[in-house]
Amino acid sequence: MAPRSVRIPSRLPILLVSGGVLLPGSSMRIPVHAPRNMQLVKNHVMKRNSLSSIIIGVAATTSKDPQTEDLAALHGIGTAAVVAQVTGTNWPKPAYTLLVTGLCRFRLDDFIQEMPYPIAHVTQLDKLPGDLTDVNDDELATLLDTFKEKASLLVDMLDITVPVVAKLKKMLDSLPSQHLPDVFASIVKATYKEKLQVLDAVDLRERFEKTLPLLIRQIEGLRLLQNSKEQGNKKSKKIPDVRIVVKPPGEGGRRPLRIVGDQDDDGEVDEITELENKIKQANLPAQALKVATRELKRLKKMPAAMPDHAVIRNYLELMAELPWSKSSPYQLDITHAREDLDADHYGLDKLKQRVMEYLAVRQLKNNLRGPILCFVGPPGVGKTSVGRSIAHILGREFHRISLGGVVDSSDIRGHRRTYIGSMPGRVVQGLRTVGTNNPLFLLDEVDKLGRSMQGDPASALLEVLDPEQNAHFTDHYLNVPFDLSQVIFIATANTTATIPPALLDRMEVISVPGYTQEEKHNIATRHLVPKQLKEHGLTGEELQFSEEGLKSIIGRYTREAGVRTLERRLGAVCRAVAVKVAEGLPKPKQHAVENKESKEEDKTDDVHAVDEDIKVPHVDHPPNLPIVIDNHAVKDILGPPVYEHEVSQRLNQPGVAVGLAWTPMGGEIMFVEATRMDGDGQLTLTGQLGDVMKESAQLAISWLRSNALEYGLVQKAGQDLMENTDVHIHFPAGAIGKDGPSAGVTIVTVLASLFSGHIVRWDTAMTGEITLRGVVLPVGGIKEKVLAAHRAGITRIILPKRNEKDLQDIPSNVRKELTFILADQLSDVLKAAFDEGFPSSKQDRAVSSKL
Ligand code: ADP
Repeated sequence: MAPRSVRIPSRLPILLVSGGVLLPGSSMRIPVHAPRNMQLVKNHVMKRNSLSSIIIGVAATTSKDPQTEDLAALHGIGTAAVVAQVTGTNWPKPAYTLLVTGLCRFRLDDFIQEMPYPIAHVTQLDKLPGDLTDVNDDELATLLDTFKEKASLLVDMLDITVPVVAKLKKMLDSLPSQHLPDVFASIVKATYKEKLQVLDAVDLRERFEKTLPLLIRQIEGLRLLQNSKEQGNKKSKKIPDVRIVVKPPGEGGRRPLRIVGDQDDDGEVDEITELENKIKQANLPAQALKVATRELKRLKKMPAAMPDHAVIRNYLELMAELPWSKSSPYQLDITHAREDLDADHYGLDKLKQRVMEYLAVRQLKNNLRGPILCFVGPPGVGKTSVGRSIAHILGREFHRISLGGVVDSSDIRGHRRTYIGSMPGRVVQGLRTVGTNNPLFLLDEVDKLGRSMQGDPASALLEVLDPEQNAHFTDHYLNVPFDLSQVIFIATANTTATIPPALLDRMEVISVPGYTQEEKHNIATRHLVPKQLKEHGLTGEELQFSEEGLKSIIGRYTREAGVRTLERRLGAVCRAVAVKVAEGLPKPKQHAVENKESKEEDKTDDVHAVDEDIKVPHVDHPPNLPIVIDNHAVKDILGPPVYEHEVSQRLNQPGVAVGLAWTPMGGEIMFVEATRMDGDGQLTLTGQLGDVMKESAQLAISWLRSNALEYGLVQKAGQDLMENTDVHIHFPAGAIGKDGPSAGVTIVTVLASLFSGHIVRWDTAMTGEITLRGVVLPVGGIKEKVLAAHRAGITRIILPKRNEKDLQDIPSNVRKELTFILADQLSDVLKAAFDEGFPSSKQDRAVSSKL
């Protein structure tokens, strides 16, 4: 044991370390490559006969490379350390690894020498382990107790059979309390910056204060891990896989398809025979078989060099590969269907309910006639993935046909074979890909079907979907009917407005309006985080998102109706952590080579045994603890928040108000701005607006002009509000079509604010159509709009009185957090939009209710 009064020398050789922080009471392996550090080891460490009492200073560098580090910029506080072991290798180039144990902090005073390795005057800052200190301060004693309590909580959560955990537990009882922060700071997962802060905390109280949050965060991480493990156990217990699959005898798996390339003549003959066999096996219906046999005959007679040869061969390949009589076995276990849906998706109750009804009818009637389900909602709300789940429940193959931007009917129905480069349509291609004749086809984005000179794809699609016709669907390329009656079609769209009416008529629309923040939180913890962890090769033992971390990602880095950006952001965090985890892993392969090579060349390693002279209580290898993502970590990884204080910052001057708009992407908030300048009464409108929006603006101006005196916007009767004034109104939110009329009340409010000089309340958003007489008319998309306002942190919403009934659809937890002002007249709107009601308004009819 070191004598109690031992002090570290006042001059220490300084080892420069990048990327790691050695804290007193912990051990660290430091790879030494840089010439300066190499010199230190050679001259100071290796020249001694034993490692006994070699004390060096370890200082953190600011640059990546210790060699180029400017000593003046070196971190001012370092850790004195004893060298416990030196390992050296000559391959691939000379390098050492030092195992050091931290003793105490020191302050770097000045450098006595910089080359070949730095030596500095230092001042010891804290006491060596073993030195006695009394903690007299009451407050500090309380802090210490809390710390001890948390520390033992943490240790209790770890596996005691791991030696290092057992050691920690012992240290917790035996070590003087003032050494605990360093020991625990070295084992918890913390960033380089956080560890440096602990090192810098020379004052004991500060050190406790800096370390305690790290400890608490780690405990939360472990708790989350335990919870997720428990949930996982419950889940796997709850859903035993008892599904019975009825498989017709002889139905095997799908045979792998052979790709036939160009071959020589002999090969050609073989190929044709093979094709013939394939066609025989494909069990073609009579009509198709007739055509195939005829084409096969033509092919046999035709020299391979003829261009038509390849055309016919491709055609026959398709014929042979199409699943004429191959289907997935019937599988539907209605009692487990709901469990499966719930296991894959959180929330979406209405959608799931309707899907269940659809499935139940299918089971009872065993036929597919009936409306086609069409999921309508903003991107990322799970439309596609619910489609995939349904396919899974029914044991069908899943295939997505993206219709966005399809303008040509032959995209659906194929090109006639007379064209060069002709192809079958997407339906037939899809069948070929899935290899069964009863798959589930997801017709994605039916609202984005186009129209052009090349025919109307919507009518081709109608033919596909119509149960009267689709049993004999004839693709132009294939030119023989294929029975599509067993195919299940489900469509998705962002809006019903642009779905061709005839198509819409065939569908049953189920709308998915978007998620509340709370739903997103649940989706993230239950689905997105586990999925992203898996995708990045991480486990819950390595990474846990804290509640506040997740909340911060949801609230400050995303503002969408769905969860797609959220998923991407979570992915970004996982990537950042994966790099950290991968860096910390040993590289077994490289090691193996190193050892082998060094043996072959007989370059023995210098290994000095651990010296027993200076015994310091320390932890060697920290136990495996999860990295916890709290909101600091989120900020470090994702950068500054994208959405924060946006509303309050924008609404700090007259002439700006927040309107609510419905878009195919979900609801959105939009900042409507207005300004005035000298002129002759002109109104200028900019931004994305249709004719209706322009009319709304005109209406708003006219109403304000006629009521200007009443609201004190002009001084005397007969004076015109627009006299010598031009007004410019802008709708800046960018390139999405706004549903024009619902901005009426917002425009009036903006103009009232502009002319009166009063600022609109920043916690308030509004929507509603107006008439020339100042009546507020109801508008659509209330649920989406309210959710959007809630996402943006708005707490008051002005709605048309006649939309009151729509408030029932809003989830109650969102409703609780919002105040709705139901307006009948424009005067109600103005009264609610400004802090003390609208200036000099004589009317007082606002119906305000907290629902
Ligand atoms: P859409 O088709 O509506 O644009 P997707 O189906 O592609 O959206 O969903 C995007 C992602 O979000 C997918 O990874 C999906 O699994 C996930 N997701 C969306 N909603 C939910 C939910 N309610 N529960 C679980 N995951 C969801």
